[in-house]
Amino acid sequence: MVLAELGSKITNALKKLNKADVVNEEVLKACLNEIVTALLQADVNVHQVKKLRDNITMQFKLQEEEGADLRNLIKRAVVEELSRMLETEKKPYQPKKGKSNVIMFVGLQGSGKTTTCTKYAYYYHKKGWRTSLVCADTFRAGAFDQLKQNATKVRIPFYGSYTETDPVAIAEEGVRQFKKEGFEMIIVDTSGRHKQESELFDEMKQVAEAIKPDEIIFVMDSSIGQACYDQALAFRKAVDVGSVIITKLDGHAKGGGALSAVTATESPIIFIGTGEHFDDFEEFEAKSFIKRLLGLGDIEKIVNIVKEAVPLEDQPKLLEKISSGNFTLRDMQSQYKNILKIGSFSQFLSFLPGVGTSLMGKMNEKESIARVKKFICIMDSMTNEELDGIKPLNPSRILRIAKGSGALVQEVNVMLEEYKRLKTMIEKMGKSKLAKGNDLANLARNPGQVMGKLKNIVDPRMLQQLGGMDNLMNMMKEVGKMEGMGDMANMLKMFGKK
Ligand code: GDP
Ligand code: MG
Repeated sequence: MVLAELGSKITNALKKLNKADVVNEEVLKACLNEIVTALLQADVNVHQVKKLRDNITMQFKLQEEEGADLRNLIKRAVVEELSRMLETEKKPYQPKKGKSNVIMFVGLQGSGKTTTCTKYAYYYHKKGWRTSLVCADTFRAGAFDQLKQNATKVRIPFYGSYTETDPVAIAEEGVRQFKKEGFEMIIVDTSGRHKQESELFDEMKQVAEAIKPDEIIFVMDSSIGQACYDQALAFRKAVDVGSVIITKLDGHAKGGGALSAVTATESPIIFIGTGEHFDDFEEFEAKSFIKRLLGLGDIEKIVNIVKEAVPLEDQPKLLEKISSGNFTLRDMQSQYKNILKIGSFSQFLSFLPGVGTSLMGKMNEKESIARVKKFICIMDSMTNEELDGIKPLNPSRILRIAKGSGALVQEVNVMLEEYKRLKTMIEKMGKSKLAKGNDLANLARNPGQVMGKLKNIVDPRMLQQLGGMDNLMNMMKEVGKMEGMGDMANMLKMFGKK
């Protein structure tokens, strides 16, 4: 991710504060110069950058005399000012569960609208919303096929037409049908043109008039940097844009400029696209984003993600199983499913302090996720008795499971090996104090001992990505202070050694 470069440049500038013997105006100036250069290179508007520099300098001068901790003051001021650069007062529309939310997507051709519609749909689908997609793009050849393919991949119902040429008619009919069927999310993809043309804007207005969307989301390609400002204003003038999604932040040096320029138009950014895959999609919240960019982590966010993925009531049951050493294939299956619910693991990791966006290897994650998916698929082909360990898995059963899941016998065996390894490990842990009560409460109390154990469990490559053992330990201490984190250690184990 190119934004990570911006993050590490700013982090490096801040690190120099630690090296200075005394923090004075000169040191601040040198640090700010580096930050300013990095921001300008990311195409952030010159006036915004100047404002940031002035505000930080002012805060510094105000408190310099009071003998405050100036290093921390500067760091905090940088985080604050960068966040402010990406914050809007206007709040985006909050979809409501249990009713039909009609969301219309607009944007230029090639900006990533159709891809983003699918990502957005998939995001809500994974959260358990009844989600649907409507293709109202009749301008681009093959538009319906593209949406159909995307929707099929993520298993979301779709509506479109090969014969109808009026986008208004399609949008109206699609929304009508999905409303009737009680869908909670009805996402309407519209056509784009290569540039802003009056025809495009007329069509947008007509579609909006016909379907009366609850929200209009404007999709914009980040590669144009601060030129996003004019484009965002032009679209807002034409239709009532409520919020913005910025795409392709994985591939362009101008991402920072795009984000700050859009915010300057007072349109809230709600998600960012960071790749071509449907889960290369991140919720956007200014402060959290900046903290992660600078590797400061966002512990609250982690707690929320884990809480959402692992229902609290399931946690004691799991701990009980662990302490009794009775860990079945079914338990492994449900743990794996929890991991998938978290979605992107590298994104999850970026919320940890000291990890940031730069340290994450996406390839490694994709492999891990694919492996987890394969294992789940294999376990889905097992009978209840096999999952609960009542019927032993003999060669003929293994052959049947392999055939049923489209896997190789070898792959089923690898999965069973993994299960055995996990079971042995968990039985050992069950006998130790680790599994009693809250794992993480123990971690916080006695990290050294627990970490010694974890070291044998966690994949060394993963450990490296997490910034080494010391960092992991600090992280765990932080996390251990929070409540409701009972399953965090388990999550790490699931991605354990191969
Ligand atoms: P539309 O014309 O606005 O509907 O744009 P599409 O959804 O068809 O996307 C245009 C191209 O951009 C496709 O090749 C997508 O795979 C690609 N794309 C969309 N979003 C992203 C993103 O966040 N990152 C990257 N790298 N590519 C993207
Ligand atoms: Mg499209």
